[in-house]
Order: sequence, then structure tokens, then C-alpha cells
Amino acid sequence: MIDHEGDSDRINIAIDGPAGAGKSTVARKVAEQLGYVYIDTGAMYRAVTLSAQRAGVTVEQLPKLAQLARSLIIELEPSEQGQSIFINGENVTSLIRSREVTLQVSHFAANETVREVLGTMQRNLAERKGVVMDGRDIGSHVLPNAELKIFLTASVQERALRRFREIADSQAITLEQLEKEIADRDYLDEQRDISPLICASDAVVLDSTSMTIDEVIEAIVKLSRTKLAEAK
Ligand code: C5P
Repeated sequence: MIDHEGDSDRINIAIDGPAGAGKSTVARKVAEQLGYVYIDTGAMYRAVTLSAQRAGVTVEQLPKLAQLARSLIIELEPSEQGQSIFINGENVTSLIRSREVTLQVSHFAANETVREVLGTMQRNLAERKGVVMDGRDIGSHVLPNAELKIFLTASVQERALRRFREIADSQAITLEQLEKEIADRDYLDEQRDISPLICASDAVVLDSTSMTIDEVIEAIVKLSRTKLAEAK
């Protein structure tokens, strides 16, 4: 029987890696080429961080933070830029990219309840397959059965340089500052107790330091077609 909507026609793709490795651009384009849904899990952690900052809830206020995380309605919608994100109906897509959120997000992302709430949301979104999900713990923790796992990385200097080119006009920051902030965020993400940033043992490692975005996308699409054929 041919089941065009069935699970065997789609796979889940997990793309993990450190900050600024190009995951979101790559994941969005891969999803576009395969006709899949792109899910930026970093945006979800940023949304919780923004909400906590607005409510004056700190990472130390554990019961309050847990209550806040459980109360939020976080929705993702495909958009021209890739994905729009809403908190309780408010579009916060640009607000979650502020420096204030970026500097705090790894602290909020280390909280157990925050990870539990968002992890459940992420698993639900991937239930019907056909998602390209990017983050830090997708292949290792959220979707351990994802058919294709990519660990996308690049040197910290290259990642800082890419970010610098993206944001230099809009935010006053030096390349050195950016490099330090990225390295600090990597450290926090790698060292936290609960589902830290690690490369899953069955992930394909792609170092994009000297690859173009198009080369990375092509490599992942090719790998996904092979996995898709195997899954049938
Ligand atoms: O991907 P992005 O850089 O926007 O992610 C922001 C932060 O959210 C990361 O530095 C990390 O602390 C957290 N994060 C996470 N687990 C994920 C995705 C993001 O802890 N799956």
C-alpha cells in the first residue's frame, strides 16, 4: 500500500551544534528543499528567557520560573525569514534576538523544568515526522530516534566572524567581544548537568569552517535522501 502521508515517507532530521555554526540557516533551507517543517528550538528557549525577564523572574527563583514556563503558550509559524514565534499570541520574533536575551538564555536553558516543558513540546511537534529541528540536544536527548543526526560545527573565530557580519550594523559590539560571548555560551551549554550540548554517537559531524552554506545544505539533503530510502 502506498501511504503518501505516512511516516515511512518522512524522516526526522536533528541538527545540533554550538552557537553561530549556521544551524538555523541550514536547517531552514534543508526543510525548504525537502518540503519539511523547520523548528528552531533555540527560539523557544529565547522565548522563555524573554518572558522571564519581562516578569522579573530570575534563574534562582525556581518555583516561579517553573510556573512561568508551564504557563506559556509558545507557537511557531513558518514565515519568510524561516519561522515566527509567538508567546501567548504576541509575535516576539525580533524581540528574542536582543543582546539581553542572548546573554541570559543559556542560564535559563539550564533549568530542569524549562527543558522538560520545551522538550515535551518539541517531541510533540516531531511526532508525525518530516521535521528539521535545530538545537543543542535534539539528536542526543529530544529525538534520540531521529533518522538523521547532524552535528554542525565551525571554529569559534569563524562563528564569531559570521555573527559579526550579521549584526555589526545593528548592535554596537566588537569582534573580540562577540568571540568571547560565543565561547562563554558554548561553555555553559556544554557544561550544564541536564542534556548538555554533545555530539550524539550516531551523528554525522560537519565542520563548516571552510564550507559554504550551500555546500553544507547539499551535504545534508544528500544524506537525508539516503536515510529516506533506507527508512522505506
Ligand atoms: O540556537 P540559539 O543560539 O538561538 O539558542 C539559544 C540558546 O538556547 C543556546 O545557547 C542554548 O543555551 C539554548 N538551547 C538549548 N537547547 C536547545 C536549543 C537551544 O539549551 N535545543
